[in-house]
Amino acid sequence: MADFRAILLEKTDAGVTAAVTDVDQARLPDGDVTIRVLYSTLNYKDGLVLKGQGGLVRNYPHVPGIDLVGVVEDGGGSGFAKGDRVIATGWRVGEVWWGGLATMARLKSEWLVRAPDGLTDTQTMAIGTAGFTAMQCVMALEAHGVAPGSGEVLVTGAGGGVGSVAVAILGKLGYDVTAGSGRASLEGYFKDLGAARLIGREELAELGKRPLQSERFAGAIDTVGGDILAGVLPAMKYRGTVAACGLAGGAALKTTVIPFIIRGVTLAGVDSVMAPAAERAEIWGRLARDLPTEKLDAATSIVGLEDAIGLADDILAGKVRGRTVVDVNA
Ligand code: NDP
Repeated sequence: MADFRAILLEKTDAGVTAAVTDVDQARLPDGDVTIRVLYSTLNYKDGLVLKGQGGLVRNYPHVPGIDLVGVVEDGGGSGFAKGDRVIATGWRVGEVWWGGLATMARLKSEWLVRAPDGLTDTQTMAIGTAGFTAMQCVMALEAHGVAPGSGEVLVTGAGGGVGSVAVAILGKLGYDVTAGSGRASLEGYFKDLGAARLIGREELAELGKRPLQSERFAGAIDTVGGDILAGVLPAMKYRGTVAACGLAGGAALKTTVIPFIIRGVTLAGVDSVMAPAAERAEIWGRLARDLPTEKLDAATSIVGLEDAIGLADDILAGKVRGRTVVDVNA
């Protein structure tokens, strides 16, 4: 069988190594749909996988890449036909299954979503897991009654992938958005995306020093966890909602129950990986409708497979701005 190009991770005594390698197609896993991959993307989790951190990968050699968009090469008797444009995010692809940082992938048909009309291939990957999760967070706020007229809505880790897309969606929907970030230098970027103002990391963490602060945020999307989430909860308005999806700043949460029992605050957990198939089409439909694509394009950089390896350290250090799409054929 012909070879395909992939980032191949190997485990050695010195740790996990990554290199762009030609791999025999016969080594692809046993799914029913074979896909010619066009683009993948770099999420925080890809950084962890590329660096062999987080215990996410069980077996090596491994092909990383938790997201992909591509064209079906062989539908294998599933509902997908040769030439269909498909997207895969989640389902632990790129963690326990070979993923999208490669020119070919073989996946299970039930994990695939048809790429929505109105989004280009690069835009679907500029969205990727990060943008998908951002929309889930927005929908979680809506489900708990947060609306554009409710008041100030905070997005933490706003300079990252989930945060940038969340700011852009909320801005387009007419929310009064505050970008929470450790990078004051990005203030202009946040305002262009749709934020009205910036609040610094230290100021947010400081709010966690008391069980309750003045009521400020009607809603919040938290991608950071740790001291930042502990600071957001006491500053929520009566019956406000925080959609929590990330841990870029830490998994531990030291707080009190006071905001929950005195202000009726809701802490809504958001997971994208195992989101049911029926919800996925709805989420992609909302993304095609409610995400300002010109702002998404402005927040997107495109790199090749080799570059993706080098960017793993930057994404884990919180240095990457917005979304990084990987052109796997470059
Ligand atoms: P990025 O690396 O793109 O962004 C994370 C951002 O968090 C950074 O840009 C930075 O924003 C901020 N940050 C990083 N380190 C720290 C720190 N030590 N203290 C405070 N803030 C910090 O990651 P993603 O946007 O891809 O993912 C964000 C989080 O969401 C990750 O934890 C990821 O695992 C999680 N996630 C969860 C999903 C789910 O299904 N639940 C799906 C997708 C992501 P700034 O510089 O602006 O402060």
